Amino acid sequence: MYKKIENYFTSLGIEYFAALRYSDCREINPSLKERMGFEPRTVIIYLVPYYTGETVNISRYAASLDYHIALREISQGLIEHLQSEHPEASFRGYGDHSPIDEVGAALSASLGVAGDNGLILNEKYGSYVFIGDVICDLDPSLLGAVDPTEPQDCIHCGACKRACPTGILSGEGGDCLSAITQRKGALTDAEVNLMRKYNTVWGCDECQRCCPYNRERTLTPVDFFYRDRIPELTRELLDGMSREEFEKRAFAWRGRRTVERNLDLVYQK
Ligand code: SF4
Ligand code: SF4
Repeated sequence: MYKKIENYFTSLGIEYFAALRYSDCREINPSLKERMGFEPRTVIIYLVPYYTGETVNISRYAASLDYHIALREISQGLIEHLQSEHPEASFRGYGDHSPIDEVGAALSASLGVAGDNGLILNEKYGSYVFIGDVICDLDPSLLGAVDPTEPQDCIHCGACKRACPTGILSGEGGDCLSAITQRKGALTDAEVNLMRKYNTVWGCDECQRCCPYNRERTLTPVDFFYRDRIPELTRELLDGMSREEFEKRAFAWRGRRTVERNLDLVYQK
């Protein structure tokens, strides 16, 4: 069964994955677990690399179509793969919003180390990875579940804290610039000045850009992230997007008006 999982992920270019016992993962959302409708026994956790090249004024993850779509497609494919051999089993796929602490699970499965920037750092893809998971009621031993390991830390070089535009990483207060760009409503002059200084209309990659684990910047082999890639967002591009096209973007969840506002604030004459 593990071979089946490995073959599936390999066919997509996904190299970092593991199975864990559900009981070895930290449950953070019991109500999501309740909604599963079955007793979870095994978690298949995987990393999806997403780096596709440099961007101009949006976070690198946002240059591609919404990663939630990718995680849904990948998890669904895995479920179909496994369900064909175990039609009696129940499965659920998650990404970003899971009953378990996904970062903690990926760390305890040794898929990366814990960065001081709050992200998992993988040996090949650095922090440019998304985490997805499939939870099922199959016996963990059937899926080759591993024993959890003690999470390892990054090298604490301090580069991310020095590079952070707002000081939030060193506990000096302020908000995360990425969160500022995603906030609805009015922004302060200081916040707008930061967006202009770092030339961002969506997100902030400063604590990733400087991280030594990202030095290699290995391109993702996953095709999804190259589809309809936008390295630079302009007002013309945004205005030309149909509602359907806009809703497939990673920056759509805050609504078109938030992105329009950011473009206007950063580039107004
Ligand atoms: S995303 Fe930007 S503002 Fe937020 S913690 Fe990282 S460097 Fe700081
Ligand atoms: S920049 Fe240095 S301290 Fe920050 S996450 Fe990377 S290795 Fe750790």
